[in-house]
Amino acid sequence: MRQWTATHLAKLARKISIAAGKKGTDLPGQIARKVDQNILRKLASQVDDIVFISGTNGKTTTSNLIGHTLKANNIEIIHNNEGANMAAGITSAFIMKNVKDIKVAVIEIDEGSIPKVLKEVTPSMMVFTNFFRDQMDRFGEIDIMVNNIAKSISNKGIKLILNADDPFVSRLKIASDTIVYYGMKAHAHEFEQSTMNESKYCPNCGRLLTYDYTHYNQLGHYHCECGFKRETPKYEVSQFEVQPFIDMDVNDAHFEMKIAGDFNAFNALAAYSVLKELGLNNDAIRKGFKTYTSNNGRMQYFKRGQKEAMINLAKNPAGMNVSLSVGDQLKEKKVYVISLNDNAADGRDTSWIYDADFEKLRNQNIEKIIVTGTRAEELQLRLKLAEVDVPIILEKDIYKATALTMNYAGFTVAIPNYTSLSPMLEQLNRSFAGGRQICTN
Ligand SMILES: [Zn+2]
Repeated sequence: MRQWTATHLAKLARKISIAAGKKGTDLPGQIARKVDQNILRKLASQVDDIVFISGTNGKTTTSNLIGHTLKANNIEIIHNNEGANMAAGITSAFIMKNVKDIKVAVIEIDEGSIPKVLKEVTPSMMVFTNFFRDQMDRFGEIDIMVNNIAKSISNKGIKLILNADDPFVSRLKIASDTIVYYGMKAHAHEFEQSTMNESKYCPNCGRLLTYDYTHYNQLGHYHCECGFKRETPKYEVSQFEVQPFIDMDVNDAHFEMKIAGDFNAFNALAAYSVLKELGLNNDAIRKGFKTYTSNNGRMQYFKRGQKEAMINLAKNPAGMNVSLSVGDQLKEKKVYVISLNDNAADGRDTSWIYDADFEKLRNQNIEKIIVTGTRAEELQLRLKLAEVDVPIILEKDIYKATALTMNYAGFTVAIPNYTSLSPMLEQLNRSFAGGRQICTN
């Protein structure tokens, strides 16, 4: 009775909070937990496979990629939303689905919430992406955090899926007898991130770790005098490319994806490892991997029939250079729509466009460039100064400018600055509606 009350009150709370225009992911869980403090324990015990995803970076992408791939294979899941990754949010996710009908839960969990939530739920599998330094501000010493996590998950029969290339994640091997490692071969990819000399001490004995190869930061192939070392991965990326989306080889299989950013290859590998351990074969995994993209305007991909597009936010010279380089990596003919607004949130000073490398467009195969936004004229002038020899259209209405790109066969490259993002994304979603379902979670 208590469980029924808790669940129904929580669902009611969600309806009210959605009606009030809020996302309402935490509130139902908070209410249910007040009515029945065992609610999460009870609901979770009815689900066969519970996968927890944790780590400093990449847990949302990893978790969404797993969730999307399971759904692409008609497997219904319980799944929490980004940001709702503490006890209340996780409880909400279990309440909102009828747990009796669902066999798998895919749950992103905040590292700091692991001790609390693990008192109520024992997942069948836990995957860890990485532990980076920015965590230390939030949780104190990274070693203490890793040890606390180890304590919370020890001796519970949880299968751990660990990043062999991260010594801090690898340290968790002390917490289970069933461990699957994933990692990348040396020279699988030249990563763009800087190689900072930090956090490279052995988490076992404190000596300096010896690296035979470094991917970036503390990720790489390491060993220590005490015997602590990178373990041999069961799932290993032999090589991958980013052009601008990730193409990668894992063990004997090849995957063409629609996510960008080389660090995301580690997340894709983590997701792959979980999906394999859940029993999916490569074809089933491919089904999800080839259709998953971000949904926030950062390297987001669209396709409808033969027409393709991608949008990438650029609010400073570095961001603009990345977006313009994407065009370099796309072999197809292109049509650009670039927007420059000067609203308060954008910063009134738009002179930063003179620090961006628009000259990159000179040698690309471009049908048209459409400039838009409140400062469209300034973009047009910048392109002229860059001596880009392509017909330019000036259309100040961002919706119209974005829609206009659909008249061209080429690959649309959409580059909005901050307040241009929402109208541009909205128009792309509209223009590509009914196309291939590219979804996120
Ligand atoms: Zn050591």
